[in-house]
Amino acid sequence: MTEPVLSVRNLQVRFRTGDGILHAVKGIDLDIPPGETVAIVGESGSGKSQTMMSVMGLLASNGWAEGSVKYRGQELIGLSPEKLNTYRGSKLTMIFQEPMTSLDPLYRIGDQLALPLMTHGGLSKSAARKRAIELLELVRIPDPARRIDAYPHEMSGGQRQRVMIAMALANNPDVLIADEPTTALDVTVQAQILELLRDLQKRLGMSVVFITHDLGIVRRFADHTYVMKRGEVVESGPTTDLFAAPKHPYTQMLIDAEP
Ligand code: ADP
Ligand code: MG
Repeated sequence: MTEPVLSVRNLQVRFRTGDGILHAVKGIDLDIPPGETVAIVGESGSGKSQTMMSVMGLLASNGWAEGSVKYRGQELIGLSPEKLNTYRGSKLTMIFQEPMTSLDPLYRIGDQLALPLMTHGGLSKSAARKRAIELLELVRIPDPARRIDAYPHEMSGGQRQRVMIAMALANNPDVLIADEPTTALDVTVQAQILELLRDLQKRLGMSVVFITHDLGIVRRFADHTYVMKRGEVVESGPTTDLFAAPKHPYTQMLIDAEP
């Protein structure tokens, strides 16, 4: 078997809350192979987002992670934020459900794309602008040389999500983590964004971790699937096997509940 790009072992996530300690992720194992799509599916609150937030080192200040998260053999748990920053945003990157909250309404999208290219990527202002236009082209925003000067509110929800994907791809990541990236979009736009992600993955060869509660998406897009329930992985395997012969009653129930 090829070495996974990312491997998670016995990951535990806990939060300090008003009523004590909440054990949100209870010792899970995940392997993300290079160039493949892995889905994490499960009901709301099962720990999908916090698992991947731990991988990114982005837990809220009342939370902490234990266990092991290795990126190409390098342990990420316990790294300082400075060290982590050499991986996140460049090797590992994440997009979220609502792109409006991640884009700054006060700045043109071109400037938001160009800024990290200048500060992290070391590009000049004009090179960053050129790269920003290329990135918008990559995510198929029409007329990118003009749209680069738009403000986020001048774009549709689907276009804003495309901009977020463009930002995530700016440094050629190895792993793109997409946390319910289409949930806030209407069905036709959802399909377009999924198609775009699939196409980009094929062309760029990155791994995609797709968090969703939509089994239809999992079936169509994921090579491997992990099913989470109450902070645990109850079942995992190649997507076709998992759907053809679910082993866990919870997986069976999810499949039976599909519309
Ligand atoms: P999912 O993405 O599967 O819907 P999450 O990973 O977001 O679930 O959440 C897992 C659990 O952790 C939930 O019970 C959620 O309420 C809890 N949780 C998430 N963030 C915090 C936090 N900052 N403080 C306390 N509990 C949290
Ligand atoms: Mg979530």
